[in-house]
Amino acid sequence: MRRQAVKVRLYPTEEQVQILAQHFGCARWFWNYGLNKCIETYKATGKGLSQSGLNSLLPALKKDKDTEWLGECYSQVLQSVSLNLSRAYQNFFEGRAKYPRFKSKHHRQSIQYPQKIKQVDECLKFPGKLGVVKAKLHRPLDGTIKTVTVSKCPSGKYYASVLMEYEGDYPASKSEGNVVGIDLGIKDFAITYDGEKVSKYPNPKHLAKYEKKLAKKQRTAARKVKGSNRRRKANKIVARVYEQVSNVRQDYLHKLSRKIVDNNQVVVVENLNVKGMVRNHKLAHAISDTGWGTFVNFLSYKLERSGGTLIEINRWFPSSKLCSNCHYQISELPLDVRSWTCPSCGTHHDRDGNAAINIRAEGIRMLSSSGTGEANANGEEVRPIRGRKPKMRHSSVKLEAHTQSVLR
Ligand SMILES: [Zn+2]
Repeated sequence: MRRQAVKVRLYPTEEQVQILAQHFGCARWFWNYGLNKCIETYKATGKGLSQSGLNSLLPALKKDKDTEWLGECYSQVLQSVSLNLSRAYQNFFEGRAKYPRFKSKHHRQSIQYPQKIKQVDECLKFPGKLGVVKAKLHRPLDGTIKTVTVSKCPSGKYYASVLMEYEGDYPASKSEGNVVGIDLGIKDFAITYDGEKVSKYPNPKHLAKYEKKLAKKQRTAARKVKGSNRRRKANKIVARVYEQVSNVRQDYLHKLSRKIVDNNQVVVVENLNVKGMVRNHKLAHAISDTGWGTFVNFLSYKLERSGGTLIEINRWFPSSKLCSNCHYQISELPLDVRSWTCPSCGTHHDRDGNAAINIRAEGIRMLSSSGTGEANANGEEVRPIRGRKPKMRHSSVKLEAHTQSVLR
C-alpha cells in the first residue's frame, strides 16, 4: 500500500468559516483538557492516557451543562484528538518527540477528519455540518482518501491536507545506479558530487528579498501597542509574508530534490543534527534559513517512491577536513576558509566540493560494508531519518577507479 499526502487550498463560505471556527475551538479545548488529564494521570501512575481512555471522557463532557457545546462538534473530529494526543504521548515516551504542548488559539488551528471525505467536482465533501467546501485541486484526488486535516494559518488562509492510499507498493529499494554525495553548504545551499563533477546550487535568488520584507514587517508590528487592533493587523501581514518566504523556500527545495532524485538512485547526505547546530549562534541564521531538515525529508520520501536509497553518514565524519585525493586529514579548518591545499599531496581543494566528494565516498563505503543494511563498518547503527531506516538491501554499487583510490 502506498500513501501520499496532497495539500489543497480551501475556500469556505462565511457560514463554513463559522462552523470551522467552532470545530477548531472544540478540538483545541478537548486537546488541552485531555493533556491536563494526561498530566494528572502521569503524576499518579507514570503513564499517559490511552486513546480509548481519552475517548471515554467524551460522553460525560457532552452531558455536562458547562461543556455540552462539545456536542456541536463532529464526533470523529474529537476522537481524532484522542488518537493524536495519545500518539504524541507515545512519541514522547519513546524519545521521538518533545512533551506534547497545550494549543493556543493564536497559532495555526487544525482539525482532522479520519474518514468519509469525498471529492465532488472542484470541492471536498466533509461529513457533519461542514458539508461541501470549495477547494483548489491541482489534479484529481485519484487515491482512496483516508484522513483529511483542515487547517487555518495565522494569515487567515484555509488548507486541507489529504492523505490518500493507493494499491500496490513502492518499487523495492535499490542501491545500484548513480550515487551522488551532497554537502549542505552555508554559502551555497547544496554542493553535489556525482562521481564526475561538482555542482553548486545557490540559495533561491528572491528568497533574500522576501526575508528583508519579512524583517521590515516584523519591526513594524513590534512598534504597535501590544493587544491593539493595529498590532493584530500588522501581525497578520507578518504571517502572510512569512508564508511567502516559506513558499519560495519549499518550492525551491522540492525542485532541487526532484532533480537530484531523477538523476540518481543513491543519495548520500551528512546526518546533521540541525537542532544542535542551531544552538551554535554563529551558524544559527544561515541554517534556520536554508531548511536543511526539510530538504533531507523531501529527498527521503521522493527516493522511497522511486525505489532509491538515502544514506545518512555519521555527522562526526570529517567530510571537510579530509583530503579527497590522499585521505590526509587536516586538524583545523575554520568555517571562513573556502579553499585549502593538502599538505600531504599538494592538491588544492574547494572546501565544499571536497566535502561532497568525501561524503559520496563514505556513503559508498557504508553501502559496500553493510550487505545486510543495518550497520556500517564500525558496527554503528545507521541512523534512521525521521523514524525511517535507510534501506540498504544490496551492495552492488560499482566503484569507479577514483572512488576506490579514495577508499583504499
Ligand atoms: Zn592530499
